[in-house]
Amino acid sequence: MPNPDYQGVWACLDQADGKISGVSLEVLSAARRLADMLSVQASAVLLGHSVDGLAAEAFAYGADRVYVCDDEKLKDYRAATYGKALESLIRSYRPAIILFGATNNGHDLASRLAGSLGTGLCTNCVRLQQNEEGMLIASRPVYGGSLMENVACGGARPWLYTIHQNAMEPLEPQDGKTGDIIPVKMELEEEDACAKVLKIIPAILGEISLTDAQIIVSGGRGLGDAKGFTLIQELADTLHAAVGASRAAVDAGWIPYAHQVGQTGKTVSPRLYIACGISGALQHLAGMKNSDVIVAVNRDENAPIFSAANYGIVGDLYQVIPVMIEEFKKVMAGR
Ligand SMILES: Cc1cc2nc3c(=O)[nH]c(=O)nc-3n(C[C@H](O)[C@H](O)[C@H](O)COP(=O)(O)OP(=O)(O)OC[C@H]3O[C@@H](n4cnc5c(N)ncnc54)[C@H](O)[C@@H]3O)c2cc1C
Repeated sequence: MPNPDYQGVWACLDQADGKISGVSLEVLSAARRLADMLSVQASAVLLGHSVDGLAAEAFAYGADRVYVCDDEKLKDYRAATYGKALESLIRSYRPAIILFGATNNGHDLASRLAGSLGTGLCTNCVRLQQNEEGMLIASRPVYGGSLMENVACGGARPWLYTIHQNAMEPLEPQDGKTGDIIPVKMELEEEDACAKVLKIIPAILGEISLTDAQIIVSGGRGLGDAKGFTLIQELADTLHAAVGASRAAVDAGWIPYAHQVGQTGKTVSPRLYIACGISGALQHLAGMKNSDVIVAVNRDENAPIFSAANYGIVGDLYQVIPVMIEEFKKVMAGR
């Protein structure tokens, strides 16, 4: 129910290396749509160091107002400092609803705030809708995506939601759109952080992140060993694609967890997903079934992945993939 002391929808944006993350643009678009539905303002929150230049992008993607908290101590994400800054911002400006990306940092921060503010949190939401009684209903997948659950926050404000990656389309950016920038000064001490970031080591092989990729080539247990990922990487490089993996391949230690697609890995929705030596377990399908086109390479013609695939190639991946690489190289060279 509306509480006049708390107003507006906020989108808490993740940024790194001077860029707002793809999932944050989805979160901001969701905040804009929700604000329009509730006839309130949509605001973006930028925490970090040297982030004021990102406000223009936040306006283009729908923010009416951007709170900018620029502080050297916020350069790297650290739960305690980000939590302290955001909690202070919330207590001063009192938003009714805050959306976060359903990322590691988003879940970390949102759950911390739910605890410190004593408010409700719904995680991994794919849809937010008002019901006839005016309650905000969040839908989220459960049991590996085989069921949807409707949940709602109640009680104290603000209500917090994390938004599932690739579930809500970003809006078309409106160039030149502006709004209010509210610079916020925080009294942050290094001791607040409780931790120091010594080094950031990219976990992803190659340069293309899985969740932003238009094309993904994934490998599973059918590769037989870690060396099989050299072939997967070669096909991915040919197509300017990212590399994904099944949990079996990750559990075998052939590739880092950051590449895992599925229920306990990443949710992706690329234009093309090529699954090589992956059987198509429910938990894997939960993370990639929304891909536009799915191609499966498997030597077992009865593998369940073929039921989800638009195109299936029955054969040994060590024979099929080299041919794909050769043929795609010709196609890419002709572009
Ligand atoms: C709670 C829970 C969460 C889970 N989360 C995830 C998750 O996030 N992601 C995930 O992927 N899994 C997840 N799993 C595991 C999932 O159930 C499967 O065990 C896993 O996806 C299987 O991986 P796979 O397809 O690579 O291996 P397998 O099921 O062993 O399939 C290997 C496939 O390779 C084929 N193959 C073998 N050799 C070749 C060859 N030379 N050429 C072509 N094909 C070949 C075989 O025919 C077979 O179909 C989860 C399980 C549980 C219980």
